Amino acid sequence: MISVVVPIYNEEELISTFHAAVATAMRDIGEDWEVVYVNDGSRDTSLDLMKELQKQDSHIVVVDLSRNWGHMGAISAGLRTARGDAVIVMDGDFQDPPAVLPELVSAWRGGAQVVVAVRRSRQENRRILALLFPIFYRVLSAISDYPIPLDAGIFGLLDRQALDSINGLREGNRYLPGLRAWVGYKNAIVYYDRQDRLAGDGKLSFVSRIKYAMDAITSFSYKPLRLCFALSCLSMSAAVALVVLSFLAGSPISAGGLGIAAAVFAVGAMLLLCLGVMGEYLGRVYDEVRSRPLSIINKVYYANEGIAARTPDQIVEREPTLALRGRAA
Ligand code: UDP
Ligand code: MG
Repeated sequence: MISVVVPIYNEEELISTFHAAVATAMRDIGEDWEVVYVNDGSRDTSLDLMKELQKQDSHIVVVDLSRNWGHMGAISAGLRTARGDAVIVMDGDFQDPPAVLPELVSAWRGGAQVVVAVRRSRQENRRILALLFPIFYRVLSAISDYPIPLDAGIFGLLDRQALDSINGLREGNRYLPGLRAWVGYKNAIVYYDRQDRLAGDGKLSFVSRIKYAMDAITSFSYKPLRLCFALSCLSMSAAVALVVLSFLAGSPISAGGLGIAAAVFAVGAMLLLCLGVMGEYLGRVYDEVRSRPLSIINKVYYANEGIAARTPDQIVEREPTLALRGRAA
């Protein structure tokens, strides 16, 4: 069986069209399949719509989270619920096109255990993001201590073994594209053209994107910490050079003056930058020590108990059985 995991937050305009597109793609593939929609605390009618859709299509599993946990929290709840031998992760706004699903599956049938969908091109009408995304991926790849494919988001496929490895990780601040590369296994790449969102506004706030970018960097690189050391060397050398210069010029630096003020600000800024960098890591260490789950499931709705016999009228509600921590149960 193949599972498709889709996080959903306030997507009422899109869900029906999206599901129709996914169902078409999955039917053509010819394997047994399910779509796990994770309702990430939507405030609109998304949950009701998904439950309605489930009455017509028993391939649907609906995971309802206890509140809005964010993109990665929703995805990890979906990954734990998915029952497939291969699991595809994609966004529910057509930016990851359902038409690419058959290619992911054929790469998997060809023996790949991790299939990464890489953006050949990107349509993005939000100018700032269009500018920032490529920069982010390049900075990450330049400083990452482990090679992570460029221009790849969460879109891709994991086989059961790779998925279990990722589900078994304990870290809470997750950057899935990085972890997917990090777990290893036989990889394949599928290129696709990333579309603009089909309808509605982007659901991720700018702050949450920054947090995600920092998760990516801090979980795959120590270099920002080493930067503090480099900055302190730089600052120290500048100080020594200035003292030497002023002696050579016969006029030792006098107290007061704008130059000194500027130097104080510069050194202060450097110190604060270093503290900020350490704070980013320290905060994450604190998160990991507390070991809170990435998200909490309220209910899981199955069209019926078994996968084999599907009757759309038997909707079963189940309490979550697993604590959603990234630990093997
Ligand atoms: N999403 C979510 N929880 C959130 C924000 C977004 O589950 O808190 C879902 C959203 O419904 C979509 C996917 O995550 O299916 C990606 O979100 P979005 O398209 O807004 O992100 P962007 O494409 O702008 O990066
Ligand atoms: Mg999107």
